[in-house]
Amino acid sequence: MIIFLDIDGVLNSGAWFDENPGALGDFPVGHLDPAAVARLERILTTTGARIVISSSWRHGGSPLLGPGGRRLGSDRERTYIAIEALLRERGAPSALVVGQTALFSGHTRAWQILCWLDEHFAVEKRPPFVVLDDDPKAYVCAHFVRISADVGLTDPDADDAIAVLTRPG
Ligand SMILES: [Mg+2]
Repeated sequence: MIIFLDIDGVLNSGAWFDENPGALGDFPVGHLDPAAVARLERILTTTGARIVISSSWRHGGSPLLGPGGRRLGSDRERTYIAIEALLRERGAPSALVVGQTALFSGHTRAWQILCWLDEHFAVEKRPPFVVLDDDPKAYVCAHFVRISADVGLTDPDADDAIAVLTRPG
C-alpha cells in the first residue's frame, strides 16, 4: 500500500499557523503539525502503508534545514529520505518513505503520481494507493482524499484514507 503524500495543507494548515505564530519561521519542523502527523501515523499503523512524497518539499534540497540544522536534502533527488527522518521525529515513527514523484514540470501532480506507479509496478500488480492532497490537481479518481488546507489532515480524512487503502479489490 502506498500513500502519495502532500505536506503543505495536509500536515500543516491555516489553523496550525494561526494558533502557532512562531511555526511559520521554524522551517521545516514548525511546518509539521504534530496532531496531523499523529493522524498520518494512525493511517500507517493501521494499514502498513509506505509513503511516496508528492509534495513540493521534494524540490527542496538545499534551502530546507532539518532538525539540528542539517540539510533536509543535500541532493534534491533524495530529499524524501530526509523527510522520513523529519516525520519520525515529529510523531510518525512508522514512517517509511520509499520515494518521491518525479520533478518534471508541466504536468499535474496526478500525472506525476501515475507515472511513478507505472515506473514501479505493472498495471495488474499496482498496490492499493491513496493520494492525500489539498490540491484538486492531484485528483486520481477514487484514490483521492482531498484535504482542507484550512485545517489539514483530520480524523475523518484519516478514516477515509484507511478505507481507500483497505477496500476490497
Ligand atoms: Mg499542498
